[in-house]
Amino acid sequence: MNIHEYQAKELIKNYGVNVPKGKIAYTPSEAKNAATEIGGKLWVVKAQIHAGGRGKAGGVKLAKSADEVQKLATQMLGMTLVTKQTGPKGRVVKRVYIEQGCDIKRELYLGMLVDRDTSRVICMASTEGGTEIEEVAATNPEKILKVVVDPVTGLMPHHARRLAYGLKLSGSQIQSAVAFITALYQAFIALDASIVEINPLIVTGDGQLMALDAKVTFDDNALFRHPNIEALRDENEEEPTELLATKHSLNYIKLDGNIGCMVNGAGLAMATMDIIKLYGGSPANFLDVGGGATKERVTTAFKLILSDSNVEGILVNIFGGIMRCDVIAEGIVAAAREVSLHVPLVVRLEGTNVELGKKILQQSGLPIASANNLADAAQKIVQAVREGE
Ligand code: ADP
Ligand code: MG
Repeated sequence: MNIHEYQAKELIKNYGVNVPKGKIAYTPSEAKNAATEIGGKLWVVKAQIHAGGRGKAGGVKLAKSADEVQKLATQMLGMTLVTKQTGPKGRVVKRVYIEQGCDIKRELYLGMLVDRDTSRVICMASTEGGTEIEEVAATNPEKILKVVVDPVTGLMPHHARRLAYGLKLSGSQIQSAVAFITALYQAFIALDASIVEINPLIVTGDGQLMALDAKVTFDDNALFRHPNIEALRDENEEEPTELLATKHSLNYIKLDGNIGCMVNGAGLAMATMDIIKLYGGSPANFLDVGGGATKERVTTAFKLILSDSNVEGILVNIFGGIMRCDVIAEGIVAAAREVSLHVPLVVRLEGTNVELGKKILQQSGLPIASANNLADAAQKIVQAVREGE
């Protein structure tokens, strides 16, 4: 799950990370009041969307008076911001963050993430802040300094010092950087984050370190431990189908293909997508209906799959271990009737009461093709979709 910049800043501030003063606004007059409350002579109006690259796209603007803040907020609220990360459709700006304008001397990069290769948290720092780190990684990988953190010790002062020296900081800035990096790591662990990115991390004119931008992504599997974070979910920013799936505890990821998949178990779901590809098809989604595939869940899963207009056929691949195949078959038939299924459906059932399950599908009178194994199922659905084109 992702959150907005202003929410990320508020969260990490609680752990002692230095952030500029700021206030969120939903209307131009709120924006003006926010500027007055923050005080000073320079403000920044920042569009709050779940995507970076706002600066270059006109989503971050400087203002020299509270009236100018109001004017910029009027322009920004309601506009569709298209950045490198939003895709061509862009995102509508519904809130703006009013922040104290900072005196930037240097723009650095600091990131932390769970690294799959080492199965550990790694901290990354670079003197090339402000720009996209992916670009730096592609063109100047040597400019990204990495530190792998041992989960037993956690982040140690020597890790933080190594990063601070790598960022070419000196004097009292080293100590500030060690405090900053340590606080950010504590936030990362305590919040069950999977990514925390500060880009840019700035050095101000008077030598302070500050998080000028903040991105935090959470591990969805740990969200149950953080109801306060779950409450920050902005439904405007999420893929509607994935949101519906989350509400029904279904594991759904939308993909670009045309064969909808409904499978129980993540491993089987991956294998199903692979075998569809092997036979020349393209999966429209990953969907794990989980162990207790009840009629209600199967129906919701069908609706989800069919809400994607690219879907031209569905492959159901269920292994009835704890669940019985006849119960699953009844669920599939009821769901297919309820959503008045209009695309070919191939079902592969295996496990307890499989014969009875197949009989139920056959006797339903619905155009459901039964398959005997995974390869047969994949070939049948790829063929059916091809014939329909
Ligand atoms: P994005 O990554 O989406 O482009 P950032 O928050 O990183 O958005 O802002 C882009 C740029 O705008 C920063 O690199 C910085 O130069 C400038 N900027 C952002 N916030 C402030 C601020 N509070 N004061 C001064 N400049 C800022
Ligand atoms: Mg940024």
